[in-house]
Amino acid sequence: MRVTDIFKEKERTYSFEFFPPRDEISAVDFGINVGQLLGLDPSFVTVTYGAGGSTRDRTFALVEYLNNRIGIPTVAHYTCVQADREKIVRDLSWLQQTGIENLFVLRGDPPKGEATFVPAEGGFQYASQLTSFVREQFDFCLGGAAYPDIHPEAPNAFSDVLNLKKKVDAGLDFLTTQLFFDNQKYFDLVRRARAAGIACRIIPGIIPLTQFSQLERFTRMSQASIPEALTELTERFKDQPSKLYQAGMDYAIAQCRELLEQGAPGLHFYTLNKSRATIEIYQTLLG
Ligand SMILES: Cc1cc2nc3c(=O)[nH]c(=O)nc-3n(C[C@H](O)[C@H](O)[C@H](O)COP(=O)(O)OP(=O)(O)OC[C@H]3O[C@@H](n4cnc5c(N)ncnc54)[C@H](O)[C@@H]3O)c2cc1C
Repeated sequence: MRVTDIFKEKERTYSFEFFPPRDEISAVDFGINVGQLLGLDPSFVTVTYGAGGSTRDRTFALVEYLNNRIGIPTVAHYTCVQADREKIVRDLSWLQQTGIENLFVLRGDPPKGEATFVPAEGGFQYASQLTSFVREQFDFCLGGAAYPDIHPEAPNAFSDVLNLKKKVDAGLDFLTTQLFFDNQKYFDLVRRARAAGIACRIIPGIIPLTQFSQLERFTRMSQASIPEALTELTERFKDQPSKLYQAGMDYAIAQCRELLEQGAPGLHFYTLNKSRATIEIYQTLLG
């Protein structure tokens, strides 16, 4: 089922992001956690595409399994890192023939240690170009990325939203945001996007911060700013893991509650393939 058809039925969607497990042991862990998460009856799920296409086979196999065998609408992430047009056509033809209807189109990040993105020869520089190409050649429902804290390479919010508009005009059906901790950044993004003429749903991406080590990890992953209140409580409970877990969960629950109260069209959870935190938030807010 296409995500856009789900939108017709549901005013709000609740979706989960997974990444393909690395080995047999993590596959067992994945099965247990994802089994519990699927019990929450999410609107759809998404599967990431590893840096540089490193997880291509595992991503595609997992997408096929979740979509066709489990029967949950699944969105395949796809990047144009090290991919020329021929490879893109080959990969996406496989997905389409397999019955996958939803694709999340991304540029991807430069390889570790490199500051700038260099497109593959015969490939694309921006996600908007990949979006146009996919729109012309295939029949997928298409999602793309938006950044409440502004994309790290964008010089300012104005140019970032103009580039976002180009990407949406190229054929995106919906947007999901990078993780963020300050709701005002999301509300500002939505306001800028609407002012620029972007009408599609902008689903907020959520991750609860429940361990001290995540503070550095999440900011490195996303470059999201951390509000003072959150930094303060992570510092305060640095050596008390269970208190930090609870404080992080309280923060995430309050964040999600406010987003929904202020009209967000649902929530997208970065689950990190773990179920506990997402289940707690889900059950607290949605019963
Ligand atoms: C929800 C979500 C899921 C993600 N999943 C994955 C994943 O599975 N695998 C993975 O590797 N990465 C993933 N990422 C990370 C993503 O690949 C990086 O953030 C990447 O740096 C940018 O990708 P993009 O598609 O947003 O790029 P783009 O939309 O191309 O934007 C990249 C930069 O270029 C600028 N730009 C865009 N168009 C133009 C233009 N015409 N002229 C000048 N500047 C322009 C933008 O402002 C931005 O600064 C995900 C991100 C999000 C938010």
